[in-house]
Amino acid sequence: MKYYSTKGQAPEASFQEAVFKGLPEDNGLYMPETISHFPSSFFDELDELSLPEIGFRVMREFVDGEIPDEELSRLMEETLSFDIPLEKVRDELYALELFHGPTFAFKDVGARFLARTLSYFSQQSDEKLTVLVATSGDTGSAVAQGFYDVPNIEVVILYPSGKISKFQEQQMTTLGKNITALEVDGVFDDCQRLVKQAFLDNELNKRIKLTSANSINIARMLPQSIYYFHGWAQLHPEERKDVVVSVPSGNYGNLTGGLIAQKMGLPLKHFLACSNVNDTVPKYLETAEYNAKASVPTISNAMDVGDPSNFVRMLDLYSGSHQRMKENITGYSYTDKQTRAAIEKVYDETGYVLDPHGAVGYLGLEAYLKEQAGTGIFLETAHPYKFRETVEEEIEKSLDPVLEFDSKEKKSIAFENDFVAFKEYLLER
Ligand SMILES: *Cc1c(COP(=O)(O)O)cnc(C)c1O
Repeated sequence: MKYYSTKGQAPEASFQEAVFKGLPEDNGLYMPETISHFPSSFFDELDELSLPEIGFRVMREFVDGEIPDEELSRLMEETLSFDIPLEKVRDELYALELFHGPTFAFKDVGARFLARTLSYFSQQSDEKLTVLVATSGDTGSAVAQGFYDVPNIEVVILYPSGKISKFQEQQMTTLGKNITALEVDGVFDDCQRLVKQAFLDNELNKRIKLTSANSINIARMLPQSIYYFHGWAQLHPEERKDVVVSVPSGNYGNLTGGLIAQKMGLPLKHFLACSNVNDTVPKYLETAEYNAKASVPTISNAMDVGDPSNFVRMLDLYSGSHQRMKENITGYSYTDKQTRAAIEKVYDETGYVLDPHGAVGYLGLEAYLKEQAGTGIFLETAHPYKFRETVEEEIEKSLDPVLEFDSKEKKSIAFENDFVAFKEYLLER
């Protein structure tokens, strides 16, 4: 399998090359040259496959022999060692709970696959690798936990100072060993820019081997297709008609995973791109104009992205056609006030506890299902306990603790939003 750049100005790469590089030289994003279509018999027996088995079948299409089947199968067992259940919230409306992994957010799936893939390839070449990752909160914790103590790999995480939750900060700043956290004086987009600039810097790339653990890396993004298959398979066969999936989105890697699953033949009828007030993509869907903006902090902070990286991949899947994208995806955006009201209302009416990200997805789905018949699934991307202050205020009760908030010392390096300083730091460490 070859991977091409969405900008078309960089050489094609193998799976391994694309995973190691993260970003092609021309500043586009890698995409698989072919997306295979499963035969209908695959879907007839999908509910008999376990989650790791589905993962193996899906990822084998993209890895294309570069990791032997046996190895890949083991890797999928390790990556998907937790449940992804589909929970009924009300008739014809389900939550696909992606938060049962070690950091209680969906990014565990991609981060764990990427860590294991990099580790597999780097053990074969015995080369030291530095993983750079910009985070608005959840990516950093998933990557830190996923890569902790993996041989040959150093991880440098950049996060916006004061703009992530205590849990998120704890999960990425207390590990030590091969994990370093840089606390940047800026917003998420600044962190993302620093990382992107590092990949494009010739000198830096000559001196150290860099790769990315953001969803710009195909090994983060592609495994996010897997749970769409698994979610669909958990529906009763009679409910598998007109299935619409609502995705609370920030950098749009999760949604891109869904679009790829659909291209592989998964019979999903429509997607909802749901954002908080950082509504660049919903605005694009409405107006055909893409205007990146500075991100605004919200209570669904993992979606505070003003210029989402994976938008170019979405566009690529529709050959740049706004019209075709709009036929398959509808955008919605919600304020914090609406998000809070949804958490309260859904709890009062059904007993289901939403987190602020899932609540944004829920709102879009509810609005869509008022207009169109079908079965709705929204992705519940984080455990509500991760955002317990907000959630407890709305449901007016305490959540059972699921996360240990231990007293390990926070270790981070304060950093200005300045590429020259960042580059120097990377060269000198
Ligand atoms: C990262 C994240 C999102 C946004 O996912 P993208 O793939 O960046 O669109 C949504 N919810 C939670 C909890 C997240 O951590």
